Amino acid sequence: MRKIVIAIDGYSACGKSSTAKNVAKELNYRYIDSGAMYRAVTLYFLDHLVAITNSKEVEKAIREIQLSFRVNAKGVSELFMNGINVEKDIRKMRISENVSPVSALKEVREAMVAIQRKLGKDKGIVMDGRDIGSVVFPDAELKVFLTADILVRAFRRQKELLQRDDLVDIDTIVGNLASRDQIDSTRKESPLVKSADAFLIDTTHITIDEQVDEVIRLALSKMVGNRARSN
Ligand code: C5P
Repeated sequence: MRKIVIAIDGYSACGKSSTAKNVAKELNYRYIDSGAMYRAVTLYFLDHLVAITNSKEVEKAIREIQLSFRVNAKGVSELFMNGINVEKDIRKMRISENVSPVSALKEVREAMVAIQRKLGKDKGIVMDGRDIGSVVFPDAELKVFLTADILVRAFRRQKELLQRDDLVDIDTIVGNLASRDQIDSTRKESPLVKSADAFLIDTTHITIDEQVDEVIRLALSKMVGNRARSN
């Protein structure tokens, strides 16, 4: 079957990463977590005290950041920044609290989108984020947009954080999700929007397995459709 690009966008903590990861595994596709890249840039900016209001400083910092995804022994894709595995650090609340203003910067977006397009040039990829279907791969064969009730999302995120021994109260998480959604949806550069051709899936009342099945069903129909057209 012909390889396609699958773009999964949506609000924070809707299960985009879990869905994308599992879909990629089932289809034997590459999985790229674009949010991890913005989180890593944020980690670098915080650690190096980069002033986000100073574009010269921002540009210099971006030139100093090398990002690469490596698949570990368990088959899980992990992000490395300048040769160091940053997976644990980038999931902490201090990053969640600072990532949206950093990812709203034009310089940051241009650099990340260039890397993301390179990663997807051979297709056979599932990428999740906020602007994957609208900006990074506007011609993606399958676009999915996930949404869910904010309280359900917050409880899911709290559970995830707890699994990493990070106990965060529910109000703090709801506040963070709401503020990120607001900044991500209203920023000037590549705001979070549902493309007209994206399939909308509300994950409030469904399980991750059901989300995955639905995306695979859509993906298979696109792959078969592609093949029929190419014959
Ligand atoms: O997906 P995740 O919640 O880890 O993303 C963290 C943040 O990175 C988002 O809140 C958003 O500000 C930014 N992001 C983005 N564009 C993407 C992916 C993530 O602006 N494609």
